[in-house]
Amino acid sequence: MSDIRYDRLHDCYVIIAPERLHRPDIGRGKPKKEAVPKACPFCEGHESMTPPEIFALREPGSLPNTPHWRTRVVPNLYKAVQIEAPYAHHFGLFEHWDGFGAHEIIIDTPRHLTSMVQWSSAETSDWLRTLRERVADLRKDSRIAYISLFKNEGAEAGATQSHSHTQLIGLPIIPARERTRYRVAHDYFVSHDRPLLQEVLAHEREDARRIVAAENGVTAYCPYASAYPFEVLIAADRVREQIGALAETTIAAIVPTLQKVLSSLQRQLGFLEFNLILATPPLQAQEIAGEILEHAAESCPFYLRIVPRLYRQGGFEISTGIMINPVAPETASKLLKEGIDA
Ligand SMILES: [Zn+2]
Repeated sequence: MSDIRYDRLHDCYVIIAPERLHRPDIGRGKPKKEAVPKACPFCEGHESMTPPEIFALREPGSLPNTPHWRTRVVPNLYKAVQIEAPYAHHFGLFEHWDGFGAHEIIIDTPRHLTSMVQWSSAETSDWLRTLRERVADLRKDSRIAYISLFKNEGAEAGATQSHSHTQLIGLPIIPARERTRYRVAHDYFVSHDRPLLQEVLAHEREDARRIVAAENGVTAYCPYASAYPFEVLIAADRVREQIGALAETTIAAIVPTLQKVLSSLQRQLGFLEFNLILATPPLQAQEIAGEILEHAAESCPFYLRIVPRLYRQGGFEISTGIMINPVAPETASKLLKEGIDA
């Protein structure tokens, strides 16, 4: 079982997860560029190679853990945390939680696609629907205070399986960085009666220098204070829905922009290894004021953040949390906009 340990010196949590040591990549160095592996556990027809599914979007009449699915969600074999662990918080100088939590793999498509750039619109829409359903389901569990939703694409981004997949990690604690984000979003919302994200989007559209695409009420832009080169944030301009309550109209509006941005990144950078992070709201009141939860859905609306992995971080970034980004977002957005128009 893993341990969620509190680092009192730096006010942050660390997950000590020995089970992760058995992940396929450890001890082998960098995984080689692979063709279709002989037995990919995530491909359609190989359902018996994964633990039983938790959720799936399936064709009518098909049975769980058989083919004819569009997305499939299974427990991660190499868990950072597990739902079967005791929900137990131990206090003291060396404070920790038993490794309780949810760690799920969303198999994004039955086809052996290795990049999100290859996905169809229908696959991209089903992916968002699946994430919505998982967050909506897990937020009913009062022990889960926070959900991290992310994709790692490419070895540089931390991926160990090449078949397109997304990860969900639900925790009994709220990370310090996210706690701050929720507090800032909440304070802005109660004093201005509109989400901070909406305000930022409106300013970015007005300024226009960092816009990559703006259409169908959706804006994609390189943030003013981009921490990473070619970082792109995508959000619907007026939406006040969190991921677990995404409307079909929001999904339909976001998907074309997301696909264009990914294709442009691929075209302009020549290769694409990235992390994609989906914004989630706080779910329970652990370590966060109850009032923040009241407006959480509206104050923390859904957005996607794409972070290409071009450079490694050094001691300055680790010690300060301040990123040094050598590519101005104004330059990145111009190139990405050209990539879309090309
Ligand atoms: Zn596969």
